[in-house]
Amino acid sequence: MTRSLSPRVEAVFWFLLTATGYFLLASLSLHATKGADNIAAVWPPSGYFLALLLLMPAHARPRVSAFAGMALASLAANLWGGVPPLSCLAYTLANGCEGAIALWLIRRQTNELSFMVPRAVAGFCVAALGASVASAALAGTLAGAGADFYLSWLTTVLLGMLIVTPPIVMLVRMVGTKALGNAPPAMRAEATAILTAAGLVTIAAFTQAEFPATFLPCIAVVAAAYRLGPFGAAAGMLIVTIITSLLTGQGHGPIAAIEAAPKVKVLFLQFYLLSLLFTTLPLAALLIVRQRLAKRLEQSNRWLLQAEAAALVGHWRVDLVGWTIHWSDQAYRIHGLVPGTPVDVNYSVKQYVAEDGAAVRKILEVAVRTGEPFAFQGRIHRADGEIRHVKSHGSIEMGRGGRAIAIFGTVQDVTETVENARILEAARSAAERVANTDMLTGLPNRRHTLAYLEKALAGARDHGAPLAVAIFDIDHFKRINDAHGHAMGDRVIHRVGQRAKAALREEDMLGRIGGEEFVCILQRSSAQAAEIVAERVRKAVETGTAAEEGLPPATVSIGVAVFDGEIDIEELLHRADQALYAAKREGRNRLRMAA
Ligand code: GH3
Ligand code: MG
Ligand code: MG
Repeated sequence: MTRSLSPRVEAVFWFLLTATGYFLLASLSLHATKGADNIAAVWPPSGYFLALLLLMPAHARPRVSAFAGMALASLAANLWGGVPPLSCLAYTLANGCEGAIALWLIRRQTNELSFMVPRAVAGFCVAALGASVASAALAGTLAGAGADFYLSWLTTVLLGMLIVTPPIVMLVRMVGTKALGNAPPAMRAEATAILTAAGLVTIAAFTQAEFPATFLPCIAVVAAAYRLGPFGAAAGMLIVTIITSLLTGQGHGPIAAIEAAPKVKVLFLQFYLLSLLFTTLPLAALLIVRQRLAKRLEQSNRWLLQAEAAALVGHWRVDLVGWTIHWSDQAYRIHGLVPGTPVDVNYSVKQYVAEDGAAVRKILEVAVRTGEPFAFQGRIHRADGEIRHVKSHGSIEMGRGGRAIAIFGTVQDVTETVENARILEAARSAAERVANTDMLTGLPNRRHTLAYLEKALAGARDHGAPLAVAIFDIDHFKRINDAHGHAMGDRVIHRVGQRAKAALREEDMLGRIGGEEFVCILQRSSAQAAEIVAERVRKAVETGTAAEEGLPPATVSIGVAVFDGEIDIEELLHRADQALYAAKREGRNRLRMAA
């Protein structure tokens, strides 16, 4: 406030500001409102002095100047008001002490007292009370007065501090931070209107004594606190205090008209003002708390919406009692709807593709019954007709009686993830197919056929089921190659594979395990059954429509071996091979069973 001044000028500034303000307020309250004991109803200089102490720089020099100015003004005003010199000294000492104590108590709590923080306001009230008690004790003791004096002094000083300090501090700070100048014109107009109304209502109530309208200023101050917050409460209180004190001191209004001793009237006025103060202060504090909570809530909601939009995750909540549903903005976007479009529970379930909807409903029913968290994924029809995959995680909200009252869940569009997984799976299975397939015949290749046989063998061993293998080899294939060329040889291999496959049963497996060598895995087949199937294969190749297709005729020799529960895959194939060689030896185009 006085940072740009030189220290000496600064000291003079604070001395003069304190002395003039204090003297004017003290003289005014002594002459206009003093009661029977020469004690004013309210002692505004105490509040003025404390406000200056709080606003001035925390250096020794301005403080000493302010205390000196206050002491001089207090002595002068009291002497001028007719107070005996010794009492003047006692009162001045008490008023000086109360300022020092209040400042010390406030500074113990905070360096920058804010009337916008409920805790700080409570701390300020406690400091003012402590300082007033000490001041009353000192003044009473030094002046040798009784209990009445003590109580009267206490309330006078307390009121002075509680009512005068806050509006001065707030107003100076608002001017300093340009908050007053920057306030919207509508807000300034409203503040002016409310505070003027408070003044007028108070004047109306306290210039007549017919009707005990002391409650009217209360309504005005409560309205000021409600609309303008702590500043409204403080300014309203100051206006009401000035008017009621002046008018009551001059014998006007309902309090002056009470038929009681003057001392009682002053006490009544003081308690009237105190009760008004302690009604409006908590109200203003609550309003500030509510405003802060509302702001925080609004910000949290904004962050939530931003987070949902960034993460593409929405949320929803079904109220099971009222059977209503709430969707967040992102939940609407996921469903292809404009946020805020009216939706109901049935609509939200119907968005799912029929079979997914049934599954979702079942999962939610179980969750509601058990109270357990849930997760599901399903396809929805978006409003634009597109089908999207969505994933939900959620939990059940329980009421007081342990009954489910709501379902809360998140919703996320996972279409891209699902599509990517599907593409990956398709690529993986295509690669697997290529790795397992013989390119010439399209049949399972050697690696895949042997792996399959290994599994079939393990299954047969576990279940005691019969299993047989038939190995066949094209007869005199070298000759076909030599006579017709390698390409034709390939076509013959392909054709033999097709013929053999067509002759097998659904459950049999055929693979190409070498150049022109094939193996049939015949599960659940006894020796006789295997023999019948193998013979069918041989015949199918022999009688194939090779000629019609322009291919040279071909026959195969077949060796069949049956698994007896003991041998391994090598031994089984070896036995089948042996049988095949036997068939070759015995003239080809025939079938031999292994021994
Ligand atoms: P056998 O009746 O004793 O089986 O007489 P073979 O002439 O068929 O004798 P073998 O089975 O030993 O001959 C296999 C021949 O098949 C050798 C090779 O040149 C030929 N061959 C192997 N793989 C292929 C292939 O993929 N395509 C073609 N066209 N010929 C192949
Ligand atoms: Mg061969
Ligand atoms: Mg051969």
